[in-house]
Amino acid sequence: MHPCLEKILLNEDEIVARCKELGQQLTEEYKHNEQPPLLVALLKGSVPFLAELIKHIDLDIQFDFMDVSSYEGTESIGDIKIIKDLDCSVKNLDILLVEDIVDTGRTLKTVKTMLKNKGAKTVRVVTLLDKPDRRVVDIEADYTGFEIPNEFVVGFGLDFNQKYRNFPFVGVLKEECYK
Ligand code: 5GP
Repeated sequence: MHPCLEKILLNEDEIVARCKELGQQLTEEYKHNEQPPLLVALLKGSVPFLAELIKHIDLDIQFDFMDVSSYEGTESIGDIKIIKDLDCSVKNLDILLVEDIVDTGRTLKTVKTMLKNKGAKTVRVVTLLDKPDRRVVDIEADYTGFEIPNEFVVGFGLDFNQKYRNFPFVGVLKEECYK
């Protein structure tokens, strides 16, 4: 195991199995829709989750990316800036926002509002991880992979200072490695 890891919280098999369940659930929920949803993934953390999830969605979906920033190191900080906006229009589309983790909920709330302001018909959220104990904004994902305790996690897209995103599992970072 990597020396900066305290423990592995979710292994690759568990994550892949849960993505399969979520993909099947999303297929069921959207299969009678007029149009398949547009998946909007938030860079960079949600890329591995998006890549696994879409293998299990049996619909003609498309996806696009947004990059917003609100996070430095391990502390959530104030305002959210758009670093990269969407390439396509969301007007009158059903949007499925793909998140790596919902922590305070600020990012989710802001991005959801942005997408609605751009004319999206509906905005639902699927997140790999949820830390409900950390919430400061009243918002929930519609579909959640795993609820996890209030610990700083890395892997499967999640980073510490841009590192560890490539771990195929989700692990807890040792405090001495970020303090
Ligand atoms: P929120 O706006 O919900 O507080 O924060 C969401 C963002 O914070 C996530 O997309 C993620 O980038 C970052 N974040 C929150 N908790 C963690 C964590 O435990 N580990 C990592 N690596 N990033 C986190």
